Amino acid sequence: MDTAQLLFRAPKGKKIPEFLDKVQSYVAALSHNGQVIGEGTVAKVNGGYLVTASLPESDALADRFANKWVRTRLRDLAAAGVARPKVTRLGTDPDSRAPCRCQKQPFLILFTTCIHAEPPLRCGACFGPVALYKVPATDGVELARNLEGKVRVPVYYYLSKYFGRSDRAERKRKCPSCGKPWLRDEPLHRIFDFQCERCRLLSNVACDVRRVRDSGGSR
Ligand SMILES: [Zn+2]
Ligand SMILES: [Zn+2]
Repeated sequence: MDTAQLLFRAPKGKKIPEFLDKVQSYVAALSHNGQVIGEGTVAKVNGGYLVTASLPESDALADRFANKWVRTRLRDLAAAGVARPKVTRLGTDPDSRAPCRCQKQPFLILFTTCIHAEPPLRCGACFGPVALYKVPATDGVELARNLEGKVRVPVYYYLSKYFGRSDRAERKRKCPSCGKPWLRDEPLHRIFDFQCERCRLLSNVACDVRRVRDSGGSR
């Protein structure tokens, strides 16, 4: 992921009604479309607003990735007299994982947790982020199912689990959808202990009981 700044400027001496609203609506549209991650942070600067945001890839803001909402919001800005933002790439986000560069993704994982600021779609082979605008997606909860019909590879949904009774009880868990065993021999990408191929679900041994096990060292 890249960190970039988008500078929105009003023409000299012109007061733009609801300027900030328009900027935020545009950035929100970019975010929904996966072209920026999160909502960014806004600063009031001389003559306009400066938004600092994370981009899933360097060319994420290219016109060819825009959807109709992004184009509409950009037109709103233009109608108010605001030119398209000047984009300055600041550098690579050092905490982020490199985007997927696989020729072909065997399956995809819809991976959303509150601790990850990266795109919610990950490649099943390398676990690298896949920019949402690279797949013909819709947003919302039906994303995984819709995506699967369109990209024609399995799309897994991740059920994160934070609390559990014990490590042993956790490992006995069955797939919550079909009730069949789904524990893997080895966790996939060191996160997913559970995988149900039939229901396209992934999960983990609850974080709280796992932490005890991990910090217990070699017992
Ligand atoms: Zn990949
Ligand atoms: Zn299942």
